[in-house]
Amino acid sequence: MNIVVCLKQVPDSTQVKVDPKTGTLIRAGVPSILNPYDHYALERALEIKAKTGAALAVLCMGPAQAAAVIRLALALGADKGVLLSDRAFAGSDTWATSYALSQAIKKLGKTDLIICGQMAIDGDTAQTGPGIAFHLNIAQLTFCTAVDSDGKKVTVRKLIDGGHQTMETALPALVTTTMPYDYKARYPSFLGAFHAQEKPMQTWTAKDVDADPKKLGLEGSPTRVGRIFPPPARAKGEVFNGSPAELASKIVDILKKESILK
Ligand SMILES: Cc1cc2nc3c(=O)[nH]c(=O)nc-3n(C[C@H](O)[C@H](O)[C@H](O)COP(=O)(O)OP(=O)(O)OC[C@H]3O[C@@H](n4cnc5c(N)ncnc54)[C@H](O)[C@@H]3O)c2cc1C
Repeated sequence: MNIVVCLKQVPDSTQVKVDPKTGTLIRAGVPSILNPYDHYALERALEIKAKTGAALAVLCMGPAQAAAVIRLALALGADKGVLLSDRAFAGSDTWATSYALSQAIKKLGKTDLIICGQMAIDGDTAQTGPGIAFHLNIAQLTFCTAVDSDGKKVTVRKLIDGGHQTMETALPALVTTTMPYDYKARYPSFLGAFHAQEKPMQTWTAKDVDADPKKLGLEGSPTRVGRIFPPPARAKGEVFNGSPAELASKIVDILKKESILK
């Protein structure tokens, strides 16, 4: 069984700011991390690998520095890594990105299970996984919290309104994973990091994956970003002091003033 996990390197979003003049993200000096949803996707794949002996490849499209997330995945137990890196990919929207990734997956050879994070914490679209499934014309199961496979089918637990749903489909298939709110990412061991250096890691260009240049970058991207801007700053809250009775009466006054109470 062959598994591919798609990993995206993202800016640590808690520290990302928008330049109010240009409306673009200020990335300078912002540390990059593995998208947390992808970390969870990788953990699920490592579990299946441990159970079935599956071969696990990781794939990332990004600039040279994105190789760091591949090295992390190799240190955690993935078998090989591919960085898809080429100026031809610059400006790609989710449609072009999923096309490029699907071309790389084709080049990797027979793939039974593809696992992506539900979404990237910088782009937030949750479109790339479904886009890859579309380009490869395979089944997709999204928003999964648990993933299991015996090499013939994949069984997942999906998060739905008010509960969970168990679903399965025959392989090949693509799964996107969401994660528990209290998920804590694991760090690689010293030995894991040491052995990662011997594992195969390649960089592929658009030409290497036989991608049609017209389907990449801005030319291959039907989406146009109109404007990015930070939300207006919220007014500071007021702090009231007093006895419980005084505070309750103050709240009632405010609710009446706002016509919430009559
Ligand atoms: C018009 C336009 C131009 C853009 N130009 C640029 C640009 O020049 N440079 C730039 O960095 N971004 C650019 N973007 C953003 C880029 O399109 C998205 O970052 C990318 O398509 C992934 O979408 P997302 O972040 O919403 O990921 P989601 O769809 O939310 O991600 C879901 C999952 O897909 C997988 N995934 C997503 N992206 C990758 C990846 N790169 N490699 C491996 N797996 C991945 C991961 O498993 C991830 O968890 C542009 C977007 C638009 C609309």
